[in-house]
Amino acid sequence: MTSQATRPDLRDTMRGELIDRAHDDYDRARQLYNGMVDKRPYLIARCANAADVISAVDYGRENDLLIAVRGGGHNGPGLGSCDGGLLIDLSAMNGVRVDPARRTVRAESGCTQGDVDHACHPFGLAVPAGIVSTTGIGGLTLGGGHGYLSRQHGLTIDNLIEADVVLADGSFVTASETQHAELFWGLRGGGGNFGVVTSFRYRAHPVGTVHAGPLFWDLADAREVIRWYRDFLPQAPEELCAFLGLKTVPSTEPFPPEIWGRKICALICCYNGPADEAEAAMRPIRTELPTPILDGVTDMPFPALQSLFDPLLPSGLQWYWKGDFVRELPDGAIDTHIEHAAKAPSELSLMHLYPIDGAVHRVGRDESAWHYRDATWSMVIAGIDPDPAGATALTDWARGYWEDVHPYSMGGAYVNFMMNEGQERIRATYGDNYDRLVEVKRTYDPTNLFRVNQNITP
Ligand SMILES: Cc1cc2nc3c(=O)[nH]c(=O)nc-3n(C[C@H](O)[C@H](O)[C@H](O)COP(=O)(O)OP(=O)(O)OC[C@H]3O[C@@H](n4cnc5c(N)ncnc54)[C@H](O)[C@@H]3O)c2cc1C
Repeated sequence: MTSQATRPDLRDTMRGELIDRAHDDYDRARQLYNGMVDKRPYLIARCANAADVISAVDYGRENDLLIAVRGGGHNGPGLGSCDGGLLIDLSAMNGVRVDPARRTVRAESGCTQGDVDHACHPFGLAVPAGIVSTTGIGGLTLGGGHGYLSRQHGLTIDNLIEADVVLADGSFVTASETQHAELFWGLRGGGGNFGVVTSFRYRAHPVGTVHAGPLFWDLADAREVIRWYRDFLPQAPEELCAFLGLKTVPSTEPFPPEIWGRKICALICCYNGPADEAEAAMRPIRTELPTPILDGVTDMPFPALQSLFDPLLPSGLQWYWKGDFVRELPDGAIDTHIEHAAKAPSELSLMHLYPIDGAVHRVGRDESAWHYRDATWSMVIAGIDPDPAGATALTDWARGYWEDVHPYSMGGAYVNFMMNEGQERIRATYGDNYDRLVEVKRTYDPTNLFRVNQNITP
């Protein structure tokens, strides 16, 4: 029900802004990161604090509105918004407080990764998260969160100490190992199914200047590089993250013009350890492989690494992606990857394999909702391009590529690398943990008020 008559009630109870379809800022406020998704909420409640979130949840429930929750708005299928309902927009809630003595960080849930990195860096700290600074920590954390520090310090959820949550009935709880422990278990991987998180408290780790950046090889060397990488990674020091990409060199600065547009195999590296050991950790990559066509590895502040890809990936591009967890990379899988990567429909389209090992493996698969602790990589195939006319080609390429490599995968995908793929895919993603997630959902959101997500159906 979307009665205009009830609208002032929410406006009166909020410190933040209420944006309706007549508002000057409506079209900007409803925009999602993925330009392929266009949604028109009836109302956007841009909350200023947890009290606003409580008002918005109560208002949505009492008026029987579809409720969506937006953190950074980076979700692939656009689950950070809805058509015709109430969008609870957390983006104005972006305060961060670092406690350097305890090495903990309290971050409001509308923060981007960049907000958190910026606040932590002066203290020589970082919270493990993803690889693009504009991604919201809300969706990233609730889905798991993997990135450059995962091998060394685990997923983002492995560093979550507690979360403040507004539940479907409008009540406010703090979930941790000792309070609402089942909710805390579900929040760590189960997405936005159980309530609206208003803030997270994380463990942070010493991270300052890292030895990091990309190495590119021509696609002709990809078979040799990938075969070498699959054997190298498991025994590499955990301080070294190297994720693998099959991509195209963007035709733009700072890449040398002579390699613009070349199809490549890339290793994007980050060494976070003693500076005098960085070169040694990188040495096998530099000495055991063909000479790369670009070696951009150098010392840089961690936030610089985290924002390295930001200029290439502004908001509003067309995105279609599909993922899978991968344990092994047999030669047949490698050849299939190279075959499809060679046919990428645009310069930005890519395949990435992110390491899921080291500290991620030291957490049991039933210790959080995140099931695939025994994977070696989280794979994403992403068709990306600025031109909406290319949308079908991106989608067809990503789907066709995925279908051919899926038989080499473990069955499920990282929930944050899924489109709208149906209930069976969601079940596959949570494996043995799915039934327990349903129980948590029944306890905390029995009417499925929060259903604009990869939904755990109660
Ligand atoms: C360019 C790019 C790079 C990425 N890199 C990585 C990476 O390196 N590592 C990685 O792990 N993932 C990565 N991702 C995937 C990313 O984790 C997901 O897209 C994630 O959904 C983004 O979260 P968000 O808050 O920006 O999204 P949103 O679209 O705002 O939200 C996503 C989902 O989470 C829910 N949600 C968000 N905040 C809350 C909250 N506070 N309370 C309750 N529910 C909430 C939303 O309702 C929605 O269902 C990347 C994505 C992009 C586009």
